[in-house]
Amino acid sequence: MSKVTLIPDKMFNNIYEITPELLKQDGITTVIFDLDNTVAPYSVAYPTEKMAQYLFSLRDNGINVAFASNNNGKRIEKFNRPLGFFTVCKAKKPSRRAVRRIMREFGATKAETLVVGDQLFTDCLCAHRAGIRAYIVNPIDPQDEGWFVKLKRWFEKPHLRYFKRRKA
Ligand SMILES: [Mg+2]
Repeated sequence: MSKVTLIPDKMFNNIYEITPELLKQDGITTVIFDLDNTVAPYSVAYPTEKMAQYLFSLRDNGINVAFASNNNGKRIEKFNRPLGFFTVCKAKKPSRRAVRRIMREFGATKAETLVVGDQLFTDCLCAHRAGIRAYIVNPIDPQDEGWFVKLKRWFEKPHLRYFKRRKA
């Protein structure tokens, strides 16, 4: 886990790059997905076939899949209906509550649990506060974001630059 709270442990263009093989290599058994702009844009109510196939491929490889979203129960429940994963809504990330709840549900340790999200100040911070890893993806549709998220994006910039510099 990164010692620097706001620096992701890994970065990807999208969730599909985070393959079951990669997760196994990294020793991950439990993946906690953010929903909005990580798995689906805000405007997409139900999972597409591609999204569902990807999430089921993790499950079929023995990886626990869960959603922790700051969005409301209606949104998550609707999206998750055809999937049937464990979900926590109104997670209030960066609060650790949802992460802890999900780890308890699956009996997962910190070392084997991962948060996948698109925001440093919610997803990455939440993971690192809970002592687990955070893999950050590019937001699917930044045009779709409200003013508060746009503001947070501006403050993310130096931390993302730091991640890229460190990689180079
Ligand atoms: Mg998000």
